[in-house]
Amino acid sequence: MALDFNKLKVLSGGGQEYELPESVRMQCVFCVDEKGSAYELQTPTFRPDVANRYLTAKMRFAKLNPQKGTVEGSVISKIYKVAEDKGGTVSPVSADSVPLERARREFLSIVIAAMEERAVDIHFIVREHSVKVLFRINGKMERIDKFAYTRDAITGLLGAIYGETKDSNDQSFSPRLRSSCTIKYVEPPVSLRWQTIPTGDAHGLDYDVVLRVTRQDTGSTAKLATLGELGYLDDQVELLTAACNSKGGIFMSGVTGSGKTTALRSLMQIVRGNGEIKIYTVEDPIELKIFGATQINIRGGSMAETIKALMRADPDTIMVGEIRGREVAEAMQDVLRSGHRMLTTIHASSALGIVSRLASESIGVSRDTLVEPNFVSCLVYQYLMPTICPHCRISVNDAPDKVAHLAAHLFGEDRYSLNQDTVFVKNEQGCPKCRKGIGGMTICAETIRMTDEIAELLRDRKDSEALRQYRLHRHAPFDQPSMIGKTSYETAIYKVSQGIIDPNDVNLMCGAMSLENIVKGHYA
Ligand SMILES: [Zn+2]
Repeated sequence: MALDFNKLKVLSGGGQEYELPESVRMQCVFCVDEKGSAYELQTPTFRPDVANRYLTAKMRFAKLNPQKGTVEGSVISKIYKVAEDKGGTVSPVSADSVPLERARREFLSIVIAAMEERAVDIHFIVREHSVKVLFRINGKMERIDKFAYTRDAITGLLGAIYGETKDSNDQSFSPRLRSSCTIKYVEPPVSLRWQTIPTGDAHGLDYDVVLRVTRQDTGSTAKLATLGELGYLDDQVELLTAACNSKGGIFMSGVTGSGKTTALRSLMQIVRGNGEIKIYTVEDPIELKIFGATQINIRGGSMAETIKALMRADPDTIMVGEIRGREVAEAMQDVLRSGHRMLTTIHASSALGIVSRLASESIGVSRDTLVEPNFVSCLVYQYLMPTICPHCRISVNDAPDKVAHLAAHLFGEDRYSLNQDTVFVKNEQGCPKCRKGIGGMTICAETIRMTDEIAELLRDRKDSEALRQYRLHRHAPFDQPSMIGKTSYETAIYKVSQGIIDPNDVNLMCGAMSLENIVKGHYA
């Protein structure tokens, strides 16, 4: 059909009689020509995603018996543009016109799906020609195809949700701005930490949004996972329990998503004991509700000042979300020097690595301070590994090709003296009781108590000597659960020896340390 743009009257612009949602307007226009004939023009790929208002408008517009036509998106934008130039009211695309109710429902369905799959993160990867929704499940990213959107639709949806729930920061959602907020639901009980990551592409339209999913359904009455249930082994639990009952700092390290917050929460339950102790937490933001503690969300304020104020509020134990920067480190030193107990997390790549991290330029605690008595009570490093589903696991003897490259390391030269008959790999086909052969997640950790010998070596910057000293305390073989003197890698080796985790996953997870390095540096 030949249409003269200049003589068309657009009816579906913002504020007009048959107004379409702005995300739909990119792909569809309702208009009439000078003779009063109605037209409904769409792009070939038009598929309304967030669009109950589209359907309502379309039904009303249908009474005009419009002719339907397929045109390119550029033609549709031109029609709107011409109308706008003539003084129309077509406004640029923004999130405001996406129907909020529909957006809420849609978003909630994604959140519920993520919780059903026990995902810990939801990723939206938004590009010009593709929008992907992925969940991180059991440590792996999985694309969730049932959530399919165009870039406009997902931007509209995320914009509506962000605009409604943003907390401490008052800017509205934009793919161009790095922004964050926390969204909380009572039903389902979950909080979501939102992070927008713009890619900085030329048009400023490509971005990722990542939501960290934290379940809140473990209140005072629900059973909390114990350290043992999380994957800590008996003598590690014993060491941590002793640390929770003495003065000094317990420092937890591990990469993002390694379960540090969950482990801290279990530790707090040990600290709480009979519930008589005064516990404060200082977090940004609060990730998990901790029963019996006074939790303070600093909301972008000064963590150091909050900690200083708490020192005057008669604390027994203070938990600090994360040690970042010199100011917080100084406040931390005051807490520990005055004989309080402190639990905190810090980024480091091993338990002893925490010491060099604390002593680094950016945090600035002197090594002399770090080795003072009652300053550091326990150093922890942990990571999460998928566990093998016990119902469909495959004996390593029946899957020799899968571990051929590992066998030499695991079983060769009698290095770890493992019994191959108790080592299993996962069955990636899975079974009705699991997902792709993975049963759940387990923490592999190393826990190091600050002994006088280790403290002295650390003070003198002999960090690798300190590691050797720690490892001298190992008295049990690698297939035995005693973890004294063992590294987190060897905790994983123990779990391999028991058929709990897959040696291939250990290789993937610890790939950064090559096997040779582990043997040279860690194998006594
Ligand atoms: Zn299974």
